[in-house]
Amino acid sequence: MKEISTETFTNMQPTLSVESEQTFRNDFYFKRELPENLQFLETLSWNFFWSWKPDGVNLFRELDPALWEKCEQNPRVLLKNVKGLQLWQKANDTDYVAKLQRFAEEFENYHSSSPKSFGKITPENPVAYFCAEYGVHNSLPIYSGGLGILAGDHLKSASDGNVPLVAVGLFYRYGYFRQEIAHDGWQEERYSDSFASELALQPVLNENGERTLVMIHIRGRAVFAQAWLANIGRISLYLLDTNVAENDEIDRLITGHLYGGDTETRIVQEKILGIGGVRLLRKLGIEPVVYHLNEGHSAFLTLELTREFLEERENADFADAVSFVKEKCVFTTHTPVAAGNDNFPLSQIKDCFDANFISSLKISEEQLYELGRTNPDDKSEWFGMTPLAIRLTRSANGVSKKHGEVSRQLWLKLFPEITQADNVPITYITNGVHAPTWVAPSFQTIYEKYIGKHWAEVLHDAAAWRAGVEKIPADKIWNAHQLVKQLLISFIRLKTFSTETGLHDTINERENTSKLFSPDILTIGFARRIAAYKRWNLLLSDLERLLKIVNNVEKPVQFVFAGKAHPQDRAAKLLLQNLLSLDENSQWQRRAVFLEDYDQEVARYLVQGVDVWMNVPRRPLEASGTSGQKVAMNGGLNLSILDGWWIEGYNGENGFAIGILQDDNEKSQETIDAEDAESLYQILETEVIPTYYAKDESGLPSEWIRRMKNALITLTPQFSSDRMVKDYIEKIYT
Ligand SMILES: *Cc1c(COP(=O)(O)O)cnc(C)c1O
Repeated sequence: MKEISTETFTNMQPTLSVESEQTFRNDFYFKRELPENLQFLETLSWNFFWSWKPDGVNLFRELDPALWEKCEQNPRVLLKNVKGLQLWQKANDTDYVAKLQRFAEEFENYHSSSPKSFGKITPENPVAYFCAEYGVHNSLPIYSGGLGILAGDHLKSASDGNVPLVAVGLFYRYGYFRQEIAHDGWQEERYSDSFASELALQPVLNENGERTLVMIHIRGRAVFAQAWLANIGRISLYLLDTNVAENDEIDRLITGHLYGGDTETRIVQEKILGIGGVRLLRKLGIEPVVYHLNEGHSAFLTLELTREFLEERENADFADAVSFVKEKCVFTTHTPVAAGNDNFPLSQIKDCFDANFISSLKISEEQLYELGRTNPDDKSEWFGMTPLAIRLTRSANGVSKKHGEVSRQLWLKLFPEITQADNVPITYITNGVHAPTWVAPSFQTIYEKYIGKHWAEVLHDAAAWRAGVEKIPADKIWNAHQLVKQLLISFIRLKTFSTETGLHDTINERENTSKLFSPDILTIGFARRIAAYKRWNLLLSDLERLLKIVNNVEKPVQFVFAGKAHPQDRAAKLLLQNLLSLDENSQWQRRAVFLEDYDQEVARYLVQGVDVWMNVPRRPLEASGTSGQKVAMNGGLNLSILDGWWIEGYNGENGFAIGILQDDNEKSQETIDAEDAESLYQILETEVIPTYYAKDESGLPSEWIRRMKNALITLTPQFSSDRMVKDYIEKIYT
């Protein structure tokens, strides 16, 4: 939560004071007295179902739009603080009450159907999905970026498809950092304390009404974790949290920050996630048919399953356990570079797993280390979570076709008996995104009109989807797009307005933003983590040429940027500072903005409102990428290097490809960068800009709209997370 000044909340209860030093709070279940006919809002606030339905969002926003923004779209905080007068006005507003009633029926219908079975996946034996972060909605701030958003979308599609699945993660009290840009363009980080009691998290209790605690040995002590439950439609997401009175001060902070600490913090977090996660499922009586390790962070769960197996079978040995555990577990890797995978020094593994635990696996310490090495005999190698995961699961996959290929090459050395990368048993499932979450309400409205109320289900049938989208007239598509583009521009004006400007050195400081950006100008978005391989500076490689492009009087271009640098990545912060400090005298200051604190909310405005989404990663380092998929579902055109998902998505008409698909091995990095920059400028100058500004006799850019339509038709079904979850069920889980 952003700090909210207490003055603004006159009816705030005393325990909510943000200055409170309290570590533990047991004031969950605050229950606002709601008017009888608005009671359903309380139920709704406990399930993130509302967040992927425009009508659900509106029911909360309409109560008090200003407060809704102020409390950052958190229904729990809204309901707690909304003024009585507003509640009673809504209770007397027949339109509002009718809308609420209709939505309550939709909610009841959705939740009344019982889960389906998919082969061996049944309500009794569900899939257990493990991930270190979940990006469900901004009001549950326990994600940092792509991996979390993907996990959130996975749960939403599993919910919509009525798939028996439970999810396990960690509750990070301080979440991930908030980004602020100082007057000199330097990124600063801020963590805010989010109290579980203000989030839509319910404490998980045992049959005696007490907190369910799991115990894990860490740092030579017994460490306890309590569990919270978040409802994601029909899906239960359990989050472990070590901030409990039973723990030492320092252990309470184990789940404090997401990716905030050193490797020691990470290893203990991962122990809580993997081992604590399995123990929690046991306490809940959940017996999964398959465990999905989404990224290697949770790979320790394989060791816990091994320990359990051997504990129950006196005569079994480690090899027996491995064949059992492998059968139960599947693994998805998300990183195409060796260095990006989690690695721990052996001393930390030794500290983390005491002798008792290791001997319960019926192996020696050295044998444990071997499980985490690419070359088991190389005693200098650290312990890698990906080698462990690959060894102890029956299936491993990358997240796009290209990434599958790259992963087979990368992990070939784990398979001494295999000589050809092609034969490495790593497959792929290309990532996708949850359409109802990412498609703008204005597009959902035209989808409903031309395709039907159940457009999101029609999406499962590419031919039916095509037939539906083809019926939408060009001007309707254009108008829906312009509507969200205007919204993006207002958002930009609001976010970049600053009464307290500093040196006027950065493009980020403006006093008067009321005329900033125009809906008639081609708008290009670029938002992603600031990391070297994403090549933030590719666009700036020929500044003169760039300024000529943005300043062209008849056909100008405006850019909107957003993204965070890892707190310890100085090089990335310098890059950002450089971008923000570009020549003050040029028009760049009028044509480019940087939005602070890229998160799911900022992403939504961007992917829905831009005309073009640019992506220029160094090949083949973009494992998949998903932000461009969100753009495509909103009629935006991708302008991207052929890497990750775009290799599969690009068809020559539904966007633009930078560079060519070539084997880059022989060329130097500088040569490749120079070629890609040249290609980027050229495509902008000769294709993107002329096509965007070419208007037909009715004043519409008809060729551009034709491409938008092509993107909507071809990319939406293929890159929806419904398709992704279906693929996981058919090709991986069963
Ligand atoms: C979708 C999304 C991402 C992932 O996008 P990439 O294409 O992988 O960069 C990251 N952060 C946020 C906030 C998102 O919404």
